[in-house]
Amino acid sequence: MSETSRIVVLPGDGIGPEIVGATKEVLDAIGSFEYTEHLIGGASIDEHGVALTDEVVEACRQSDAVLLGAVGGPKWDEAVANDPTAPRPEQGLLGIRKELGLFANLRPVKPFPALIESSPLKRDRIEGTDLLVVRELTGGIYFGDSGRRDDNGGTAYDECAYSVPEIERITRVAFEAARQRAFGRDAGPRVTSVDKANVLESSRLWRETVKVVAEDYSDVELDHMLVDNTAMQLVSRPADFDVIVTENLFGDILSDEGAMLTGSLGMLPSASTGAEGEPGLFEPVHGSAPDIAGTGSANPLATMLSAAMMLRYGLGNGESADRIESAVDGVLASGLRTPDLFSGAEGESKVGTEEVAAAVLAQLSR
Ligand code: NAD
Repeated sequence: MSETSRIVVLPGDGIGPEIVGATKEVLDAIGSFEYTEHLIGGASIDEHGVALTDEVVEACRQSDAVLLGAVGGPKWDEAVANDPTAPRPEQGLLGIRKELGLFANLRPVKPFPALIESSPLKRDRIEGTDLLVVRELTGGIYFGDSGRRDDNGGTAYDECAYSVPEIERITRVAFEAARQRAFGRDAGPRVTSVDKANVLESSRLWRETVKVVAEDYSDVELDHMLVDNTAMQLVSRPADFDVIVTENLFGDILSDEGAMLTGSLGMLPSASTGAEGEPGLFEPVHGSAPDIAGTGSANPLATMLSAAMMLRYGLGNGESADRIESAVDGVLASGLRTPDLFSGAEGESKVGTEEVAAAVLAQLSR
């Protein structure tokens, strides 16, 4: 890279610092980066009383890209259970997405050949799977009006609202991504828009709006699928999907289901992007895995692959992204596995976070 990229690093909680630390070693092996590290989530609550400070938001705004680990843990869940008004770690994540205007979340699902046997699905079901979930990130039920009322012995409500412009811009991201993915490929671009239009008014508006945007993309094949059907089709015929575009809540659930196709949450990267020229946020799909935090056994590969997405989509350096992805491929092919990936098959050896990082570095120096 010609100049030093400014990266804000937000390790977060649980395994976050371990996997982000290992990923920085990999980044340093391929380029020159200037890091500033900040607290987010539970770690920020402990220090500042809130999950996200204005200072961190400003630092992210001034950066070229943001690399995040994960947030959350039982300690803060317990505090909220005792006092529902206590700050929650996820407020940091939702807040930074909102502040940076990150309305699109891109999650590729493409099983690694060396890991096909560790998928809970049969080989013939997942072979050939190469899909992208494009999830709307700043609207819908997670950001709607919510609260509690005293009626009927205590009632809680969460409103799901979407505006036409919100649906239009995420739909365009999906159609553009489908075109990009189809470049040089035999099969043409396809988009599956997922909703619950048989029940929800917000989904009916979603479907109408997607159809209108599709008129600008006559080369892209579009179909509409109900979310419950999509949940089934994703496990029965995942290789038939290309790009899936959906709203926030459905995307949250479907992309975790997609994660299982790869055999482990520890393998899934994600990119969140907003307006052109603004910094994107790159993070693994998995959470802070408090059950294994501090054991040295966390799988850092999803974070390293998120760093590859950061290089490709955030810093315009696809070549370095390819190098990281090939190095990860090489490590898996050599049989090294963190416990979440270990199946006991011949040729596999169980290793920890640091050994995986060292193996990726060794692949990069080949
Ligand atoms: P999780 O993804 O943290 O863990 C689910 C399971 O997968 C656990 O058994 C965990 O050990 C394992 N796992 C996850 N990542 C792994 C990795 N890199 N290597 C090896 N194993 C891995 O989900 P959860 O248990 O539902 O949530 C734990 C905490 O994380 C909660 O506080 C939750 O709110 C938070 N969370 C945060 C994010 C985020 O920061 N983006 C996402 C989901 C959950």
